[in-house]
Amino acid sequence: MSDLIELSDGDGLIEISAPSADRYASLKLIDWWDQARLRQARVMVVGAGALGNEVLKNLALLGVGYIFLVDFDTVEAANLSRSVLYRAEDAGKRKVEVAAARLREINPDVRVATFHGDVTQALGQGIYRRVDVVIGCLDNRAARLAVNRACWRYGVTWIDGALEVLMGIARIFVPDQGACYECTMTEADYDLVNVRYRCPMLRPEALQEGRQPTTPTSASLVAAWQVQEAVKLLHGLPVPAGKGIYINGYTHSTSLLTYSERPDCFSHAQPRAVVTELPLRAADLSVGAFYAAIAPILAAEGAEQPALLPEQELISRFDCPACEVSTPVYRPYDAVMPDGATCPVCGTPRLPSILSRLPLSANSPAADVPLLQLGVPPLAVLQVAARVAGAERVFWFELSADAPDLLAAWSE
Ligand SMILES: [Zn+2]
Ligand SMILES: [Zn+2]
Repeated sequence: MSDLIELSDGDGLIEISAPSADRYASLKLIDWWDQARLRQARVMVVGAGALGNEVLKNLALLGVGYIFLVDFDTVEAANLSRSVLYRAEDAGKRKVEVAAARLREINPDVRVATFHGDVTQALGQGIYRRVDVVIGCLDNRAARLAVNRACWRYGVTWIDGALEVLMGIARIFVPDQGACYECTMTEADYDLVNVRYRCPMLRPEALQEGRQPTTPTSASLVAAWQVQEAVKLLHGLPVPAGKGIYINGYTHSTSLLTYSERPDCFSHAQPRAVVTELPLRAADLSVGAFYAAIAPILAAEGAEQPALLPEQELISRFDCPACEVSTPVYRPYDAVMPDGATCPVCGTPRLPSILSRLPLSANSPAADVPLLQLGVPPLAVLQVAARVAGAERVFWFELSADAPDLLAAWSE
């Protein structure tokens, strides 16, 4: 069977015979198209909901070689009206696993590594150093903010998508080229993020933020723009950095929005991470073992008084005022509060000691605490502050031995 591709030259049809063995034959007719570049591309997709499904489908059709998919959800019936990759019999299964299997059916050229968990805290930021572009298919500000800060820290472009009924927007954020997502946040946005981070009791309401009414048609439109801009970026074509492509399905119009850089933007103020890779895994390490690994590196730099800067605030201990007992904790605030504060002996609320820096030394009281207990995820990039020649400097240490496991599907 031979495929005929028909092109009009104005007078009639030119017939070009294309080998039906090449699934990319019609794409390769585009003069700037580079299928080999796409085959090598590494794209991280965060979120496997309505938008994520459309983004993933397009990436697979285009033959993008390496996808890293993150989502913490499972398939349910309500997804089926907006998610081309899921079937009724997938109910209850992890979205990332179902999506990965369907993508391999669509295009066996595509290798899909997956992570089932929360992108904001359960996945190490080393992943951002291993991808060319991040495509955000998220439904809440807290996750967008976390992705934005990480992308800025490691210099990775990300393309955010958002939906609301027949309206949607695809925004392109390129480090060092104009506004980022955080620049667009208002005080009200920060309030919503803080509610989500700080008050577990309020989470169900905060999560309602994500329950926008959406249609598969809007998801298709926005996801198509997101992937198209990613393809342009991968080819080195200009993309609208710091801008948003706004689509209004009611007025059948699109417009390009330009965002202003905000002078007090935290993402912009972050230093670009300079990472030292350590051949270590998060699951194997205690605080003391981590310190032992980095101590020679710090000594060589003349760095003194090192302290771990955890991504999440830690509770180091609880003090019960009634029992006058102090109990070491060393866990993230959110993992313990508020229930953990109650004294198991007398029922009195205990006072937490909160740490935003954990001093590191050979005789640290936290030496035996596993890094996992501190909320350090696989492939984490740990920040360590130290004094160098009288000034504070931040060092970045990646637990790089977690990468082969996380990305195993890329080597199959
Ligand atoms: Zn910014
Ligand atoms: Zn007590």
